[in-house]
Amino acid sequence: MSEHIQRHIDADDEAALLETIDRWIERDVRPVVMHHDHNDIWPAALVEQMTEMGLFGATIGQEYGGLGLPATTYAKIITRVSSYWMAITGIVNSHLIMAAAVERFGTEEQKRTWLPKFASGEIRGGLALTEPDAGTDLQAIRTLAVRDGDDYVINGTKTWISNGVNGSCFALLVKTDPRAEPRYKGMSFFIAPKGEGFSVSKKFDKLGYKGIDSAELVFDNYRVPAENLIGGVEGEGFFQATGGLELGRINVAARGVGLAEGALRLATEYAQIRKTMGKPIAQHQAIQLKLGEMVTRAEAARLLVEQAARAYDRGERCDMEAGMAKFFASEAAVRNSEEAMRIFGGYSYSKEYEIERFYRDALLMCIGEGTNEMQRMIIAKQWLKRNPV
Ligand SMILES: Cc1cc2nc3c(=O)[nH]c(=O)nc-3n(C[C@H](O)[C@H](O)[C@H](O)COP(=O)(O)OP(=O)(O)OC[C@H]3O[C@@H](n4cnc5c(N)ncnc54)[C@H](O)[C@@H]3O)c2cc1C
Repeated sequence: MSEHIQRHIDADDEAALLETIDRWIERDVRPVVMHHDHNDIWPAALVEQMTEMGLFGATIGQEYGGLGLPATTYAKIITRVSSYWMAITGIVNSHLIMAAAVERFGTEEQKRTWLPKFASGEIRGGLALTEPDAGTDLQAIRTLAVRDGDDYVINGTKTWISNGVNGSCFALLVKTDPRAEPRYKGMSFFIAPKGEGFSVSKKFDKLGYKGIDSAELVFDNYRVPAENLIGGVEGEGFFQATGGLELGRINVAARGVGLAEGALRLATEYAQIRKTMGKPIAQHQAIQLKLGEMVTRAEAARLLVEQAARAYDRGERCDMEAGMAKFFASEAAVRNSEEAMRIFGGYSYSKEYEIERFYRDALLMCIGEGTNEMQRMIIAKQWLKRNPV
């Protein structure tokens, strides 16, 4: 099993990095968001710029060529970007969860082989867990890997995989022993680069989260060398795959904060410009009540994310903190974008305005990295464990 990886950054370095991100958003992201979102275009130029800024190695250790950022700094970057365009953070995040699985659970050789290429962005990818009949109940997956000499032969289907079309390598969760009881003991995790027998069968047309590709992947007698089995031992895949979820949840929570703050920003501007009954609608109490709730919600969500990220950086168990942050921040994103829609009145319903994108994108935050139904149960179970009678 893995050691916790300690990360640190000086306050000055963090401030300089966040300033670079802010300049990039202003100069390169804001002008192109609506065009890419409305036409569901993969943002090649932005991906190139994120590569140059080192974001594909943001949380990978410096010894492997990454930036080695702590979760607190990473969350701040994700929040800032998401407050303008949430979807592009998914291109980096799924990739970094794949990298984290290798860095935390891989053999030394796997780390030396793969992490520098992940960090430089030479290889980009994501996480392939979900199947058509198994999302929340991950232990019900059916993709099967059978040992054959120095290889494994893999057959099965993965669905909803972020970066599935444009990524070239995935952390792939399979069954190596489908009869094992409990079921998780028969699960293994592979580093799976695209190749013969690995194809993309479908790209999803989605409500939101445009620009980033979500795809169905088919494995038909796909061969992967046994040396790509993460950690080199069968049967540890379930823990390796779910071990990265705390960081994943902090990330989704940070995206939720970004969406909640972005919706608030748009509503705040609009409410001071739009006039009814001779004054800006921001002067009407009904709109002030909304803004008051929205700013409080966004701030509370941000503090929960900070608390979870700090606990993660200290190496503490933080499934409850990450769960609370994910649950609250994603619901805050939905509520704030809905309230902002109301503040925009009829114009909220026009694609000429940005707010409708926040509303479409926010809904996804309640599903990914464990649905909010599951989050509440995780929080409650951990709460009860910490408070026995
Ligand atoms: C845009 C997008 C991107 C995604 N990206 C990825 C990716 O990169 N990689 C990947 O592997 N997956 C990805 N997913 C899949 C995502 O993780 C799953 O959709 C999610 O885990 C839920 O699984 P499901 O859709 O099968 O829903 P189900 O598991 O079928 O759940 C349906 C409903 O039942 C509830 N439910 C299920 N079980 C219980 C229970 N025991 N108790 C109470 N309620 C329960 C759920 O909360 C939900 O409300 C993505 C999904 C989307 C939409």
